[in-house]
Amino acid sequence: KEFRNNVKPNWCPGCGDFTVQASIQRAAANVGLEPENLAVIAGIGCSGRIAGYIHSYGFHGVHGRSLPIAQGVKMANRELTVIASGGDGDGFAIGMSHTIHAMRRNIDITYIVMDNQIYGLTKGQTSPRSSAGFVTKSTPKGSIESAISPMQLAISSGATFVAQTMSSDLKGMTEIIEKAINHKGFSFVNVFSPCVTFNKINTYDWFKEHVKSLSEIENYDPTNKIQAMRVLMENEDLVSGIIYQNENQKAYEDLVPGFKQEALAKQDLTLDPAQFEKLCAEFM
Ligand code: SF4
Repeated sequence: KEFRNNVKPNWCPGCGDFTVQASIQRAAANVGLEPENLAVIAGIGCSGRIAGYIHSYGFHGVHGRSLPIAQGVKMANRELTVIASGGDGDGFAIGMSHTIHAMRRNIDITYIVMDNQIYGLTKGQTSPRSSAGFVTKSTPKGSIESAISPMQLAISSGATFVAQTMSSDLKGMTEIIEKAINHKGFSFVNVFSPCVTFNKINTYDWFKEHVKSLSEIENYDPTNKIQAMRVLMENEDLVSGIIYQNENQKAYEDLVPGFKQEALAKQDLTLDPAQFEKLCAEFM
């Protein structure tokens, strides 16, 4: 199975997004997908280019709108594995309302955020993930806002698989993405993916020093929501691993009354002319 195509990424050398791309490609192969079973839908930002770098169906949408498109794709063809991806600005600023509603809907897609805590594509402005005091050209005296906590937000919004990893850990990230793809429901993977060009604070070394692996916590139980929230609050969200998973909640598409398993594309949607006239009359 080959998820590589011949498009050369134009990310800066050392950008964390390279390993996220490699991880998605490896995870897709490891779970037994073929390129025609996978759709990668991206938003806008450096990370949004990823849809063009993976040999699969792909769609590079508009800013903050990867999730509405991804949900539409899943509903139109639930046989596809759908991965939505983007950056922290895309998902937690302009796309925030979509993020929250997709999470609470628990539709069976995987959302991967490349979280570099800055806007990279527009050359380095403060993002919703930048820490208080963060200095950029948009906050020259330091940000006076505090950063959003994506993990706490996801759990409290209803996501049923919530994980965090680092782009420096290709093996660990790939294992998490495999589990996220296999999870039946909304899976959210936040990846600390350094912007080596514009963010000189949250570097690979900074994440290595500050992020604690859940494997270090004795008897950690990812099905325990209260323990998950406590660990996140105690560590300011700087933990890696599968933080929360609920396998008992049905996915959105399994709850829609009368919704068929078979992809719309494969269903016979022919209407007889009388039915069509009746349908039109209802809208006249
Ligand atoms: Fe990556 Fe930053 Fe370069 Fe964008 S600007 S490609 S996020 S290193």
